[in-house]
Amino acid sequence: MPRCLECGEQIRYGRTDKKYCCEDCRNRHHNSMMKDSRAFRRRTLSILSRNYSILEEFIKFGIRSVDLSYLLQRGFVPGVVTSYRKVRKHDEYSCFDIKYIMTETRIYGMSKIQNVSLTLRTDSMNEDQTL
Ligand SMILES: [Zn+2]
Repeated sequence: MPRCLECGEQIRYGRTDKKYCCEDCRNRHHNSMMKDSRAFRRRTLSILSRNYSILEEFIKFGIRSVDLSYLLQRGFVPGVVTSYRKVRKHDEYSCFDIKYIMTETRIYGMSKIQNVSLTLRTDSMNEDQTL
């Protein structure tokens, strides 16, 4: 017998693919999923924002290459990025308008993307060109 995804009660009647015992449980489950999703987005944005501050500080001082271990100590989270692309053999990531190459031990080539608005427009134009 299937169990309600929200309260765990057995679902005794209705279709066999029913996921909730009642409308209340269905709503509660949906709301908590939405809350999880919002919390996840908020967490991701806060990580990105912290990553950005850390990287920006180095750029301000003209530093373009930093050991990853040092960045980790500062609270940098390497797995959260806003974009990724392969540039020749390198893995280029970005955190909003800061781009950098990341290896297993360090990041280098940190720089601010010039003309961000132009870059965004160009990217979407490239997609359009695949018509
Ligand atoms: Zn239930």
